[in-house]
Amino acid sequence: MAIDYDTLFIGGTWVAPSSSRRISPIDPSTEEVVGSVPEGQEADIDAAVAAARRAFDDPSGWSAWEPERRAVGMNRLADEIDARADGFVQRVSSQNGMPVAVARQLEAGYPSAVLRYYSGLAARGGFTEVRPGFFGGEIEVSRKPLGVVGAVVPWNFPQALTMFKLAPALAAGCTLVIKPSPETVLDAFLLAEAVEAAGLPPGVVNVVPAGREVGAYLVAHPDVDKIGFTGSTAAGRAIAETCGRLLRPVTLELGGKSAAIVLEDAELDLAQIGEGLFTSTLLNNGQTCFLGTRVLAPRSRYDEVVDAFTAFAAGLQVGAASDPGTQIGPMATGLQRDRVESYIAKGRAEQGRVTTGGGRPDLDRGFFVEPTVFAGLDNNATMAQEEIFGPVLTVIAYDGLDDAVRIANDSDFGLGGTVWTSDPARGAEVARRVQTGTIGVNRYIPDPAAPFGGVKSSGLGRELGPEGLAAYQQLQSVYL
Ligand code: NAD
Repeated sequence: MAIDYDTLFIGGTWVAPSSSRRISPIDPSTEEVVGSVPEGQEADIDAAVAAARRAFDDPSGWSAWEPERRAVGMNRLADEIDARADGFVQRVSSQNGMPVAVARQLEAGYPSAVLRYYSGLAARGGFTEVRPGFFGGEIEVSRKPLGVVGAVVPWNFPQALTMFKLAPALAAGCTLVIKPSPETVLDAFLLAEAVEAAGLPPGVVNVVPAGREVGAYLVAHPDVDKIGFTGSTAAGRAIAETCGRLLRPVTLELGGKSAAIVLEDAELDLAQIGEGLFTSTLLNNGQTCFLGTRVLAPRSRYDEVVDAFTAFAAGLQVGAASDPGTQIGPMATGLQRDRVESYIAKGRAEQGRVTTGGGRPDLDRGFFVEPTVFAGLDNNATMAQEEIFGPVLTVIAYDGLDDAVRIANDSDFGLGGTVWTSDPARGAEVARRVQTGTIGVNRYIPDPAAPFGGVKSSGLGRELGPEGLAAYQQLQSVYL
């Protein structure tokens, strides 16, 4: 049954949108419309920013509360989100094609865990300290909230990536305008319902779904103090330019093309490592920014590694996102499928050898692409340099450890990565040499306690961890 909304969540209440334009997300497994919401326009952004401003400037409001008091509100919100877990799973998966098994973990359980992690940091307090001055006397140093936040999020993990901004911003005492991507709007309205049920003060969280022009309007809005963005590197650059001109703090989580380095001693027993391999290379139908889609294999074991990844990819269950057994669902949109297919064509044109997949599965509906493995390409190939954002892996040969590290670092990006080995200490040594914001040894999953983000074209700044909280705070020193 279609899920339809006629109003927008602004200022703690449901208000009529400024125009009759609507967004109608499509289920990429069935190609059917799943619902519709009003499409936010500039006037709606103005109203949402004004509500967030009022909430922020209220001298007895959210930003002025003790952090411990905000933590109580955040825990209530986490409870309300948990109470809607099934709804989040269903809405996310039906809009972006994320298999329900993946959505259950990462779009229902994970966001509320991130929120609880940050409510824990807020509950600890300590946002103000008094320290002795080097020249004598005392100095009060406070971590104050930055102000009104514009949170611009993509469609691939809409709830988790919203929470990467919402949770630290709330802990800091900021107020927000969240702009979801047009592909995934229904889950954002469920979040708005959770915010309302949790009784957060009006205007602390506002939700206005819209396209990129209206997103750009939010980014440049004179009454916004900080931008948190996750999305493509191209959009990130445009947003950074605007924020640079305005001297507006910005955190950018952008694209990736990470390396999964298989060491000489790695045991490729799929029964043992299959799950970890899946999460770190093909999670969410390959539409995950941190995936190690360049598999680096020692030349002496190249054929064996190709065979193992071929068996791994070929063994995954492809199907409708709503099927609990599905491991690989469809691409989020028809456009995204076209993009992935054009990369596969390019890989073939560059003399890559497809060892499994390469086409569409035998399904009569949906934007599906088979999990695909390429062999016989080196790191200069387009497949190895550009982010594909689909279930496509390229296995590249290396000669010795230094060569593996060189290839891993020969990329415009640096977001995630993994090292596969039977010697974890040696794996960690290799991991430390890779130019990347995050990397795992025999596993990978962003932990709420650890800063997450990228180097080079993968972004600016970090989300998660106490560092992610600091990104929503500004420091004030009072010389007492
Ligand atoms: P996108 O950049 O096109 O859109 C992301 C969001 O930004 C959407 O809400 C969109 O409406 C908005 N937007 C686009 N251009 C804008 C502009 N100039 N000003 C303001 N808002 C703008 O990205 P996408 O295709 O939706 O998402 C996929 C991309 O996101 C991939 O490249 C992926 O690697 C990246 N991503 C990165 C991370 C990370 O944490 N590093 C996580 C997930 C996705």
